[in-house]
Amino acid sequence: MGGSQEHIVMLPFMAQGHIIPFLALARQIHQRTGFNITIANTPLNIQKLQSTVAKDTSSPSSQSPINLVALPFNSADHGLPPGRESTESLPLQQIITLFHASATLEAPCRRLISDIADKEGRPPLCIISDVFFGWATNVAKITGTVNVSFSTGGAYGTAAYVSMWQNLPHRFTECDDFCLPGFPDSCRFHISQLHRFLRAADGTDAWSTFFQPQISLSLRSYGWLCNAVEEIEPLGLDILRKYVKLPVWAIGPLLPPSILNPSSSSSNVSSQRAGRDPGSSPEKCLEWLDLHPQGSVLYISFGSQNTISPSQMMELAKGLEDSGVAFIWVIRPPIGFDLKGEFRAEWLPEGFEERMVESKRGLLVHNWAPQVEILSHKSTGAFISHCGWNSTMESLSQGVPIIGWPLAAEQAYNSKMLMEEMGVSIELTRGVESTIVKEEVKRVIELVMNRKGKGGEMKKKSVEIGELIRAAVREEGGHKGSSLQAMDDFISTLLSLQQTKA
Ligand code: UDP
Repeated sequence: MGGSQEHIVMLPFMAQGHIIPFLALARQIHQRTGFNITIANTPLNIQKLQSTVAKDTSSPSSQSPINLVALPFNSADHGLPPGRESTESLPLQQIITLFHASATLEAPCRRLISDIADKEGRPPLCIISDVFFGWATNVAKITGTVNVSFSTGGAYGTAAYVSMWQNLPHRFTECDDFCLPGFPDSCRFHISQLHRFLRAADGTDAWSTFFQPQISLSLRSYGWLCNAVEEIEPLGLDILRKYVKLPVWAIGPLLPPSILNPSSSSSNVSSQRAGRDPGSSPEKCLEWLDLHPQGSVLYISFGSQNTISPSQMMELAKGLEDSGVAFIWVIRPPIGFDLKGEFRAEWLPEGFEERMVESKRGLLVHNWAPQVEILSHKSTGAFISHCGWNSTMESLSQGVPIIGWPLAAEQAYNSKMLMEEMGVSIELTRGVESTIVKEEVKRVIELVMNRKGKGGEMKKKSVEIGELIRAAVREEGGHKGSSLQAMDDFISTLLSLQQTKA
């Protein structure tokens, strides 16, 4: 479809959970169309992407089909510590600073698009920008191209997030649960599902003054791409389409090829986070998993940037130990603590790691694990997850049920949907401020890992959903999965818009 001379520019927000699906989108569009793709971001994020993208090429001398462009950005100019260009491990106050700083990419991005237009004799076919980069609609208008927003989240979570920011303030004086504009009365939300800054937001605070204008601008783009699958999120997509009143293409799951097609030689991002923890190599984790029976291991991770509180860490560790279940835990110290510092006993039971390693009961991976490889291993039976959308799709695509512990962003809405709409998850607790006790941790782990009763139902539903997810991106025997069809429809729309302009 289309000619190889077309060019699409992509602008992900600076967070792993956004960059990973953007890269998958770039690869998929290039594969289906042969178009040139440019991903632009801050220098450090581009540097990190370089080694990943280089591995896409068949020989060291051949050029990658994805161009990476570093836009000028200096974190220190924005009051951030030097070299902090992504949300990973940033405290909340600095995350919002980074959000505001990201809007300064507008001017260099405009120059990039103009340079491409000068060089190629016309502007790129489209700018695909993060929903948080609403300013890209201005860039597209000025440079004479089309802007499409991409939500890296699912449809239900995205719709809830957008509606939450657009319908401020959320002050709950009379009751703690409420109906959200755009959502049916049957989907009531609870105040505890709102992050504390959203609970306090009134349109004038630092969070509102970033999210409200950027989301409103994104609502003026030509349409939205969403990392959703038509068959698994019928309600979410219906709500999102009615809410944004724009074309919405459900093109998910945007996952690394290795998880959708295990025979694929293409590498993925998670296995390439070298330098984080030598003990976390995919080989070591897979060897460890090989020692355990099918479906017997619990995987625990809170995504690329979140941590839980010291007391929550402590109770989680104790509950895990008491449950007797084997586990891999991506362990990250609570904010303010070091992984190996002298105050470790304040957030992890004395001797816990040593006991787990010795008995082969638990593998504690420091900071970063090869998640995709772990979730696709047959020994992995369930996932304690913060319900970030990439983690959710990675887990469900492999038929692995979830124990939810949403922490930030739209994760609480994902968790709600996974329980109420899909029946593939049970929520253990929510947020970093909640009180959690080891007995509850043990009870929920046992409930889900036991394949009789509720755990069995969740597993069955996860396997069914996993099949629907994989089918959406499969093409065989003349049949094209719904997400591939949506991707082709999206590209056809862009090409016909270009013809109309010509
Ligand atoms: N991830 C990983 N290893 C880790 C933690 C995270 O590979 O130890 C990857 C994970 O596979 C997913 C992404 O980082 O692709 C996290 O994205 P998600 O949307 O789940 O959460 P976020 O990090 O945005 O909160």
